[in-house]
Amino acid sequence: MFDSSPLSLISNRIGKLDDLASLKLSVVIPFYNEENVLAECHERLCSILSKIDGHCEIIYVDDGSTDGSRKLVEQFSVSQISLKYIGLSRNFGKEAAMSAGLEQARGMAVILLDADLQDPPELILSMVKKWEEGYDIVNMQRIKRNGETWFKRFSAKCFYHVLNMLSDIDVPNNVGDFRLLSREVVDNINQMPEKNRYMKGIFSWPGFRQITIPFVREPRFSGETKWNYFKLVGLAVDGITSFSIKPLRIATFLGCVIALFSFIYGVSIIIKTMIFSEVVSGYPSMMVVQLALGGIQLLCIGVMGEYIGRIFIETKNRPLYLIQTIIEQPAVQQSQSYEESA
Ligand code: UDP
Ligand code: MG
Repeated sequence: MFDSSPLSLISNRIGKLDDLASLKLSVVIPFYNEENVLAECHERLCSILSKIDGHCEIIYVDDGSTDGSRKLVEQFSVSQISLKYIGLSRNFGKEAAMSAGLEQARGMAVILLDADLQDPPELILSMVKKWEEGYDIVNMQRIKRNGETWFKRFSAKCFYHVLNMLSDIDVPNNVGDFRLLSREVVDNINQMPEKNRYMKGIFSWPGFRQITIPFVREPRFSGETKWNYFKLVGLAVDGITSFSIKPLRIATFLGCVIALFSFIYGVSIIIKTMIFSEVVSGYPSMMVVQLALGGIQLLCIGVMGEYIGRIFIETKNRPLYLIQTIIEQPAVQQSQSYEESA
């Protein structure tokens, strides 16, 4: 992603040094303006990670926060756990922030966690246990979504249903971004070059040995969700168009069916006129047919436009995100101050 930049050279070198110490687990937390929850999240996460037998790191990916989140993260310090702050140059969206975190993570297993405590950090222990049993991906499935409106629950259900119907990969129902990925899976995901990163699809694509653990999704600890319905619809369209070309096939199929019916209808009109000498009538029905056809045509052009737009974005080949700052605090060190590497 940022292979040629001086920054990436620095971070790659740091990566190599730390690899020698063999990190067991990396927890990646993308956040955007979460100053009200970060302290609580950090505390709960650290107390859980201290129970893990092995060296852990926490990677905070700041997706262009404009509140006091960065200051807060800079003050965090734990002696047994490595901390890393990755500051993106602006708000690139959660999908890009997660990709940045995955590229920076060096653990043998990586867990993605929301900062708002909707995904309870306490479940990390059972996720790690499953990984130690040999699973490469541990999916966390929400069986109950506390604190979410019925409309959000209903629309999420419909979306997963439509996505699975249309796409060629199997995206598990109600599994969000909270999951554990093995090093092998993370390496494969990091090699995926696409810029339209619908992460739930990307996580499912590599396959490998997977297991799903059910959990109850808690309400937000504080603050508001960063997703409005407009953004969610955009994410849903991304999800479908990134992993399926079926909508294009449906458009073609629809065109064929309508053309066939039009032909049959045309023949019937000719026969009626020639044999039964029927006079032309039915202005309203003509209007309905015209408007319906016009609507379907526009819809099909729109579907094609979605794909062409994505081709346009991919061909520009811009980086997914830009890192402005990396601050590291290695584990077990005397001084509690951060060592700034950019
Ligand atoms: N987030 C982010 N960038 C964004 C929007 C959200 O990094 O542009 C983070 C946010 O801070 C949180 C996580 O993604 O840690 C999930 O966001 P949110 O709680 O708003 O989504 P929801 O749980 O409602 O799906
Ligand atoms: Mg949330």
